[in-house]
Amino acid sequence: MNIFTVIFLIALTISFSIQFWLARRQASYVAEHRSAVPEAFKDKVSLEAHQKAADYTIEKGKLSDIDSIISLIVLLGFTLGGGVNMAFEYWSSAVSLPLIAGVAASATIFLVMALVDIPTSLYQTFVIEEKYGFNKTTVKQYIKDHLLQLALAAAIGLPLLALILWVMDSVGSLWWLWAWLIILSFSLLLSWLFPTLIAPLFNKFTPMEEGSLKDRIQGLLARCGFNSQGIFIMDGSKRSGHGNAYFTGLGNNKRIVFFDTLVKSLDEEELEAVLAHELGHFKRKHVIKMLIASSIMSLISLAVLGWLINQPWFFTGLGVQQASNAAALLLFMLVSPAFTFFMQPVTAYFQRKFEFEADDFAASNAKAAKMISGLVKLYEENANTLTPDPLYSAFHYSHPPAAIRIAHLESKA
Ligand SMILES: [Zn+2]
Repeated sequence: MNIFTVIFLIALTISFSIQFWLARRQASYVAEHRSAVPEAFKDKVSLEAHQKAADYTIEKGKLSDIDSIISLIVLLGFTLGGGVNMAFEYWSSAVSLPLIAGVAASATIFLVMALVDIPTSLYQTFVIEEKYGFNKTTVKQYIKDHLLQLALAAAIGLPLLALILWVMDSVGSLWWLWAWLIILSFSLLLSWLFPTLIAPLFNKFTPMEEGSLKDRIQGLLARCGFNSQGIFIMDGSKRSGHGNAYFTGLGNNKRIVFFDTLVKSLDEEELEAVLAHELGHFKRKHVIKMLIASSIMSLISLAVLGWLINQPWFFTGLGVQQASNAAALLLFMLVSPAFTFFMQPVTAYFQRKFEFEADDFAASNAKAAKMISGLVKLYEENANTLTPDPLYSAFHYSHPPAAIRIAHLESKA
């Protein structure tokens, strides 16, 4: 057996074993703590809501296990099973231009992956979300959303892929540096265009009405010295009962967005505190730090690919007989998650550190007590568990677990 096949299988086995072991721990920890509301939330969350969150967490966990098994089978089928090889052989004989054949073969693999995802996504939306009262989307809306996503992915992704393949074929051994610059500029352009061009394709954004809430928010923005292109309410309720707030865009094209569901469930001071938290991410430079970290990661990845592309064992080890730039790029995208999986706790650690810093910012620019009561409402309404397994949350959670986060805020109140 090719040595790279062995390395790939070992990485895959370890990463999936850890993932399943953590998922089992999470499910049993949540089940064990289902019978009583944790002490810190005794007078804030009802037992009924706590148990709903436990059941919801466990059901979503089961579905995500099934999803992981399906992805594993598909990944093995594409690589060692020869799926990628077949797609490239087919398109190379059907199309005479290698660049077009490479784009078509990659698109075929991505399309199959998108189709394989549909059953679990349907189950998630129309069975689990429905059962817990979160689903507001219709079958018609669901189909429309997915077709639109597919069309957008094709309209944006295929030309980008063609451009990168062209660079790989034309500029010599430093192609990966050029590819990196292209990907970086493309993602910056997309972030800049997202709020005004892409997001409105899926949702309606209405400028926030004049009134006490808007005055309060503008006061907060002025206090924090934050410039934005407006405050908007998004009709999130047409798809889901889950609520959120965020700001999007880059430079002077930033927008603040509240889900209509959030505006309905939090009071004005809670909304102010939640927004102050989001501004904290901006003011503490988390956005730019994340952007730099991910650019460095992608530069390293592309440099590694620049080396792998010249190693025949990289192709044969993953079931591809005919080496090509397009096949290398595709294989790399398919198998790198098995290796980057081990970075996940590090990323999650920094994300949680940033969450604490943003909470500190919210506590000093709005009321910590209101941040706490807003968070408790959000945990309750989104049925997020208050009792995650410590190891599972350390590995996966981008936010500190509820009890720790609220204790931290209480120390600032
Ligand atoms: Zn945050």
